[in-house]
Amino acid sequence: MIHIGQLKLPLNHAKEDIIKKVCQKLRVSPSDIQTFEIAKQSIDARKKGQIQYIYAVNLVLAKKIKLTGKHPDISVTEQRKYQMPIFGSGKLRNSPVIIGTGPAGLFCAYLLALNGYCPRIFERGKMIEQRQKDVEAFWESGVLNPESNVQFGEGGAGTFSDGKLNTAVKDKYGRNRFVLETFVSFGAPEDILYVNKPHIGTDILKNVVRRMREKIQELGGEFYFNSCVTDIQTEWGRVNGITVNHQTAYPADLVIFAGGHSARDTFLLLAKKQFPMEAKSFAVGFRVEHPQDMIQMAQYETTDRTYLPAADYKVTYHAPGGRSVYSFCMCPGGYVVNASSEAEKTVVNGMSYRKRDSRNANSAVIVSVTPDDFSGDDVLAGMRFQQKLERTAYQLGKGKIPQQLLGDFESNKISESYGDFRGCEKGQTVFADLRSILPEELNTAFCEGMHGFASRIKGFDRPDTILSAVESRTSSPVRILRDETFESSVRGFYPCGEGAGYAGGITSAAMDGMKTAEAVMKKYIPQREIR
Ligand code: FAD
Repeated sequence: MIHIGQLKLPLNHAKEDIIKKVCQKLRVSPSDIQTFEIAKQSIDARKKGQIQYIYAVNLVLAKKIKLTGKHPDISVTEQRKYQMPIFGSGKLRNSPVIIGTGPAGLFCAYLLALNGYCPRIFERGKMIEQRQKDVEAFWESGVLNPESNVQFGEGGAGTFSDGKLNTAVKDKYGRNRFVLETFVSFGAPEDILYVNKPHIGTDILKNVVRRMREKIQELGGEFYFNSCVTDIQTEWGRVNGITVNHQTAYPADLVIFAGGHSARDTFLLLAKKQFPMEAKSFAVGFRVEHPQDMIQMAQYETTDRTYLPAADYKVTYHAPGGRSVYSFCMCPGGYVVNASSEAEKTVVNGMSYRKRDSRNANSAVIVSVTPDDFSGDDVLAGMRFQQKLERTAYQLGKGKIPQQLLGDFESNKISESYGDFRGCEKGQTVFADLRSILPEELNTAFCEGMHGFASRIKGFDRPDTILSAVESRTSSPVRILRDETFESSVRGFYPCGEGAGYAGGITSAAMDGMKTAEAVMKKYIPQREIR
């Protein structure tokens, strides 16, 4: 297969123009091209007046060609296909149990089901169709269902998200591609396979998740919704069963924990039962909102989106006090959402629809915290630190999302009205004193970061920037330890995904789910072969 990079095209090009360019480069005609696919699409916005798209493509020609001269952008390539592992010979007495249907649990289940392991998947929340109703009712009325919300339920935490799919995880084995191809095969748009920063959007993601569940069921997997795993039994250092909703027991010799970073009752259970785990660093802050047009101007010097996507950004700053301040989970054309999952605690996050067409851009601007910042030195001190911030945010907003404009935050004054633009939120909001949520040292670092970012994105520190509180669940406060075979020293227990501290986002969680499934496959033969 021939790979060609650095194909530059104007903003208003058609797909045929890419092929034309390829033909010019290789001196062939379109009929000589046997197969053609776009490998990467990115935007070069370095010269603002001359923004262009840059493509890399892969193709197979029907005839042999000989190129003369040097062509650094042309190479021969082979696409690395993901390979399923070879099965081990161990025998499981029971089907593998998976806790959680987020991307980690779902991809783990999918791989196991594809290979005949017939997993049983336990999810504390509801099926997506019912979950959506609960989430919308919460945003309307403020009445939270602690088992069915933005964090808990089919599809996990990212279901009501922007559906960004980029990841920094290295992909030597083709897992990233497998995740994206799987999403496409269940209804995601094909462009996620090649755009530089792919995103699905919550509206499409929900259907993808439902179709994946249906396929896993067809392959012999069993889903148990409204089924919170409330106990994990062990004997002689091995798991041997689970209890669901404090009442129903299931035998289990292999349990994959993919419960996400908000499963605090489950973290408590694991700590109490002395499953090896350690505290880890994470970051906290506020969600910040700007007009999307301001970001378009900063990145592209135009607000015309006829040929350009909703612009995004990624900014980092090292505060003089030594803290890192950075933007996280940026949602162009998105909404700030009330993402709470615990009674009397408020937490926010961001989401977008596929079109990314709301008036505002939002992102979390967060400051790093380490176990030294948490009072108490036990393994769950970070979790309690998060809870304290969320409790204060709840009390300030009386259940609504507490907000403040940046200028008022800096001059210690509760805002009375919005500035030149209004917020785009899912959930009720109220103005409050956000300064009282984070420790003052973090507030200072946050403000320094906001001003620092303004040198990259003009207007980032405008006084009417809307802050919403609190961003506390940026990653897990703990790591549940596992060895190189992905197993805990409590044998048969496999910590997996973001909650266990091995992922940070939809794609990396899905890839970790795959790696965990591979570890199981390498050790055991499929259930289908035992039956
Ligand atoms: P989760 O997705 O959290 O799934 C865990 C599941 O386990 C949940 O469904 C939960 O109900 C269930 N569970 C927990 N405990 C139990 C138990 N005891 N018994 C049974 N079930 C249990 N990431 C991105 O990459 N891109 C984005 O655009 C993005 N946007 C986001 C927007 C929002 C609003 C949120 C909340 C998150 C967003 N994220 C995004 C983060 C992303 O969702 C997570 O990184 C990812 O979902 C983690 O996957 P996971 O499978 O490890 O855990």
